[in-house]
Amino acid sequence: MEKVVIIGSGCAGLTSAIYTARANLEPLVLTGAMPGGLLTTTSIVENFPGFSKGIDGTELMVEMQQQAERFGAKIQFGSTVEAIDFSGQPLKLTVDGKEVETQTVIIASGAGHRHLGLESEAKLEKKGVTYCATCDGALPMFRDQPLVVVGGGDSACEEATYLTRFASKVYLVHRRDELRASKIMAERTLANDKIEPVWHSEVIEVMDVEQDKVTGVKVRNNQTNEESTIDCAGLFIAIGHIPNTQLFKGVIDMDDAGYILPKRGQETNVTGVYVAGDCSDHVYRQAITAAGQGCAAAIDAERYLASLDQ
Ligand code: NAP
Repeated sequence: MEKVVIIGSGCAGLTSAIYTARANLEPLVLTGAMPGGLLTTTSIVENFPGFSKGIDGTELMVEMQQQAERFGAKIQFGSTVEAIDFSGQPLKLTVDGKEVETQTVIIASGAGHRHLGLESEAKLEKKGVTYCATCDGALPMFRDQPLVVVGGGDSACEEATYLTRFASKVYLVHRRDELRASKIMAERTLANDKIEPVWHSEVIEVMDVEQDKVTGVKVRNNQTNEESTIDCAGLFIAIGHIPNTQLFKGVIDMDDAGYILPKRGQETNVTGVYVAGDCSDHVYRQAITAAGQGCAAAIDAERYLASLDQ
């Protein structure tokens, strides 16, 4: 039987792995379909402390993985959990058709960016299409250029406001004429001279006149059906996230949007099951906060296991 199984291999999961491995608990890490998590989809990470020149997202995650392995973490690549039975001890997981028994589980399954679902969006990802202004906004390709943000929630407003530091202008494309964001955030955004709202509009195509580089977006006004093009160097898509928690529905407490609600610290409502990172955090969603929660979840799990030995 395992002592610790970690579901997910982003910043939260791998930090849990480093801490539990160093506590000699030989954690089993199930990487899921995207080893390294969402950070591997960004280019350079400039805000993770300790890297004054920035570090490539994938490189950072490989470093974390090797650090965990060095202390005895067992990384099972590509493995996803198909079913869970948390009705008692041991906790049971079905992984690649086989049952795994464990004393504790750390859920660090992350969240995915909601996509517009356009072919051109997928083609130009990392080439001007991005899902994280904090990660990518300061890149040279976006400096002093017009940029487009899609969405009307707090994330879109926050991203648009953040991007005004770098961009010559930010167009905020929203499908309605009223922002979903909190009142204060919406007011602040609309009062910003550098932000121009584009109401009742939907992005229907990302353009790359210069091959492999965003040069503009085509939008359609959903009231008039009129199409127009906005010239821009980048498209920041901020239309929400989808936590990867479907598997735990009905067993682990979560809010209506599917974010896991910890009971105390990183503990969930099920004894021996802990949570960390984006699958439970829709507020901060940073690599460093996920890592911090991963550390806390590992310490919680370690203390629980120690209490069983007493
Ligand atoms: P959100 O509140 O769900 O907003 C998503 C926005 O994207 C909505 O305006 C929605 O339009 C739009 N949208 C969704 N699907 C779309 C599509 N396919 N095409 C075009 N537009 C689409 O998501 P969020 O902004 O990421 O915020 C998530 C949670 O985190 C919220 O509770 C928010 O308050 C919180 N948050 C807080 C802060 C903060 O306090 N600093 C910062 C960021 C996020 P409609 O409005 O028409 O539905």
